[in-house]
Amino acid sequence: MHMPANIANNYDWLKGFTLDFSMSSGLSQGAAAPATVRRLSQMAGMYTDSGAEERAVRDGGDPVVYEFYELGAPESPGGLAFGTSITYPGKVGAEYFMTKGHFHTILETAEVYYTLSGEGRMLTESPEGDAVMHVLAPGTAVYVPERYAHRSINTGGTPLVTFYVFRADAGHDYGTIESKGFRKLVLEGADGLPHLVDNPKWKSVIPRQQ
Ligand code: MN
Repeated sequence: MHMPANIANNYDWLKGFTLDFSMSSGLSQGAAAPATVRRLSQMAGMYTDSGAEERAVRDGGDPVVYEFYELGAPESPGGLAFGTSITYPGKVGAEYFMTKGHFHTILETAEVYYTLSGEGRMLTESPEGDAVMHVLAPGTAVYVPERYAHRSINTGGTPLVTFYVFRADAGHDYGTIESKGFRKLVLEGADGLPHLVDNPKWKSVIPRQQ
């Protein structure tokens, strides 16, 4: 069942509410609910094979890479924000479709991702450079600890749909990743499997002036 367009006005964050969350097929299928949609052109420079990225935008129809649904939870420190994230299958060169990834503005806030469908990896990385790649598979929950940036990566052939929940006032810092990238990349190897490798561009990127 899809959420009606006006449901954002129906959430009672003070008294609680029940929400139809049968999102395993993805709310994008004809749903009127507001979503944030990211096309490849909106991730310019984030894939390691910039030539493949340009071709996919110019000749490949600028595909939708991912989208997410959020409910507009009040940003209170005791509240919880939740929703779904859908990363579509595809690759740019050997690099799987992925989300931009972010740190939380309040760095010491964690997040849980429960995979509803699809398969992938969650790339996480601390500011000090500790990188961990978690498996995203239906029925499993990934705990992203405090202080770790996180990015969803679709390594399969169907949409990767996850349910997420985090402290409602955590906020999102996209700029650090946009300007510096992750230290690691997840690329498809010659064996057809995802591999965690060093990002050759990481140190050469000059942080953008904010
Ligand atoms: Mn997050």
